[in-house]
Amino acid sequence: MAADIQNPAFHDEIKAREALETIRWPDGPVCPHCGNVEQDKIAKGQGAAHRSGLYYCAACNGQFTVTVGTVMERSKIPLSKWLFAMHLIGASKKGISALQLSRMLGVTYKSAWFLCHRIREAMDPATSGQLGGLGKVVESDETVIGGKAKNRAHAKKEPKKHTVLTLVERDGKSRSFHVANVKAKTLREKIVTTASRKSHLMTDELGSYVGIGKEFANHSSVNHSADEYVRLGGFVHVNTAECRFSLMKRAVFGTHHSISEAHLPRYLVEWDFKYNTRKMKDGERAALIAKGIEGKRLTYRPTSETANA
Ligand SMILES: [Zn+2]
Repeated sequence: MAADIQNPAFHDEIKAREALETIRWPDGPVCPHCGNVEQDKIAKGQGAAHRSGLYYCAACNGQFTVTVGTVMERSKIPLSKWLFAMHLIGASKKGISALQLSRMLGVTYKSAWFLCHRIREAMDPATSGQLGGLGKVVESDETVIGGKAKNRAHAKKEPKKHTVLTLVERDGKSRSFHVANVKAKTLREKIVTTASRKSHLMTDELGSYVGIGKEFANHSSVNHSADEYVRLGGFVHVNTAECRFSLMKRAVFGTHHSISEAHLPRYLVEWDFKYNTRKMKDGERAALIAKGIEGKRLTYRPTSETANA
C-alpha cells in the first residue's frame, strides 16, 4: 500500500482523470447522453477542453467528461483526492474514519465525511446474486452491536443497541443487514431473499430459525451456550459468521466509535465489500470502487450539508 501512495494519479488531476477513464471506459469513451460507443463519432476536446477531459459526441452533438453521471460530477473535491480516498478506504482492513481521511488527504472534515459515504455507496453491489445454492452451506448468525458498558461513563444515556444479521456462504460471499429484531418474520424476509433455498442453512438454536430452516434443502443448528460450536466432524458450525462478527466489533466499531442508525447500513456494505473482495489486490479493489461510482447519482441528493463538498 505504501508504494501506491506515490501513484501520480493521486497527485495530478490530468493523470487522475486518465486513470478514471481507463477504469470506466476500458474500450474507449461512452457517451452518457445517447449511449454511443462508436469511437469515430467521439472526438477529444482540444486545448483547454482537452485538459478538462471534455469529449464531443457526433451522434447526439452532446459533450461529456468521465465524471458525468457519477457522484463526482458535481463535487468540488479534486479527482486525484477521490481516487486516493478510494484506494485508502479500499485498502484499509479496519476502515478509516472521516477524521483520519481528512488528515491524510488534506481536505476538510466535511469533505472527508462526504467522500467516505459516497465511496461506501459505490461499494454497494448493484446486482448481487443469491448466496449459496445446491450443495453449498450458508451460515446465518445475528449479533448486537453498540451500547457498550465502557462507554456509558461518558455518555448521558446508554448508546442504542443495533442488531446485525450476517449471512455468509462458506468459502463465498457475505451480506449483512441491520434488522429491527430477531423475530422469525424479520429474519425470514432477509434470509429467503438473500440465500438460495437449495442451500444447507447453518444457524444457532434461535427459535426463529426452526420454521425458516424448513424452507431450505437442509438445516443444521448449533447451540452456542452448550460448548457445541463444532459438530459432525467440523461441518456443523457458524464459525465463519461468528468470526466475522468479532472482527467487525473490533475493527469497524473500534475505528468508528459510535455509528448512527442512519449510517449503519453503509458501514455494513463496506464490511461485506471488504470480505467479498478479500482475494483481490488493493489496486483491483480500488478500481472496482471507481466503477461502482457509476450510476449511483440517483441516490445523490445535494443538501446544505454536502453542497460545498
Ligand atoms: Zn451522444
